[in-house]
Amino acid sequence: MPKRISDMTPEEFSAAGKRVIEWAERYLKDIETYRVLPDIKPGEINKRMPDSPPDFGEEFDKILEDVDRIVMPGITHWQHPKFMAYFASTASGPGILADIVSSTFNSNGMVWKSSPALTEVEAKTLEWYRSMLGLPGNFKGIIYDTASISSFHGIAAARDYKFPESRTKGMSSLPAMRLYCSEQAHSSIEKAAIALGVGIEGVRKIKVDSEFRMIPAELEKAINEDIAMGIDPFCVVATIGTTSTTSVDPVDAISSICRKYDLWLHVDAAYAGVTAMLPEMKIHFKGIENADSIVSNPHKWLFVPIDLSVFYTKRPETLKRAFSLVPEYLKTEVDAEVENLMDYGIQLGRRFRALKLWFVIRYFGVEGLKEILRKHIRLAQSFADWIRESNEFELLAPAPFSAVCFRAVPPGLKEEDLNKFNKLLLERINSTGELFLTHTVLNDKFTIRLVVSGIRQEERHVEEARKVIKREYETLLNNQ
Ligand SMILES: *Cc1c(COP(=O)(O)O)cnc(C)c1O
Repeated sequence: MPKRISDMTPEEFSAAGKRVIEWAERYLKDIETYRVLPDIKPGEINKRMPDSPPDFGEEFDKILEDVDRIVMPGITHWQHPKFMAYFASTASGPGILADIVSSTFNSNGMVWKSSPALTEVEAKTLEWYRSMLGLPGNFKGIIYDTASISSFHGIAAARDYKFPESRTKGMSSLPAMRLYCSEQAHSSIEKAAIALGVGIEGVRKIKVDSEFRMIPAELEKAINEDIAMGIDPFCVVATIGTTSTTSVDPVDAISSICRKYDLWLHVDAAYAGVTAMLPEMKIHFKGIENADSIVSNPHKWLFVPIDLSVFYTKRPETLKRAFSLVPEYLKTEVDAEVENLMDYGIQLGRRFRALKLWFVIRYFGVEGLKEILRKHIRLAQSFADWIRESNEFELLAPAPFSAVCFRAVPPGLKEEDLNKFNKLLLERINSTGELFLTHTVLNDKFTIRLVVSGIRQEERHVEEARKVIKREYETLLNNQ
């Protein structure tokens, strides 16, 4: 084996690169031949790898072969059209290829000067995306890796907005503060509270109505109770498209309360945000222009490979005040004229993620993307109709977007036995390898979720999903 001390030659790179592209092409072409969920136990993949690294270089083809031999058996196939779990997220061809371009440049967008195009392509692409979502021009965008990190920065800015001294003095000098979100908000909100010193007890979860939406009157009551107790409210997080049911908090009413008490409003629209592109979905986004910050994840439902989360804020100067800290070696002569992205958050280094969104928007075009989203919503609605019309299944939440929450209700089975039945049903469905669904719990009811949001999902996949669900339901019933 060779002792390699220099990079691939252009010829080697080209030959290996062609094989990787062929490999990727074959994988995507054959994607439906794989089990969606691997049939594997914890530790099995780890065991297939040698305990020590090679002392000398290995052949590239051997490494690529081991992707199939060692890695593939442990892959959950997110690109599979019958991956209908979580929020099914898929990578499109142009997005995958953009990732190669980004890695090829390997430029780091710490400051404008460290890669001017990175900063400027990101800014322009986010202006496009902002206008696609119908957000007003006073929202400025920045890309982070995930919605969790985007929301962290929204809540950090909220803290700085109310308590500018938190940056210098830390939390010990500050009064107890409170953040509000609904019972259905994503766990990333509490994680941000942990990281920002607000603490889990600093988060107050507001009750939801029968459709899992935050109740604005309960929010205002909680704010007043806290003020009376000497606790300082500082931020409300509303969700458009909650993770369990995709319910929509009434952002319009919540934003009036935020204005009244001068609270920062952060809107978590990680999954559903993309649908703001569709005029018929605007009803779910009423009042969003009143938010101080918003997160939408193109890596979730816009066919951009993970990770790419977009954060918009109307108060970029607050975010900058919270985080900007410029060591000598990062000062440049153009700082007064340019945007340095490191000023808007924790991270210094920044990969060229914007290329992925730029490629995807340009390749499909806005109208193409809208059509795909509409198809997903239509397919999910047809599945929801099937559940509604069935005597053996029931919907457990409204389905405003492309996620459907349901459970089996076999005639004759008592309420207390339904959770066990549905849990077994989900296990059976997933163990077939034909389909992958996940679950949640709503009002103590074990709930199965089916999501249509993948670039390769067509009517026949939803049809096949129905057949698998029905078949496993009947087998389970007969085995009872
Ligand atoms: C998926 C999701 C998140 C978390 O997204 P990451 O990008 O994985 O951090 C947060 N909030 C909502 C509403 C989500 O759907």
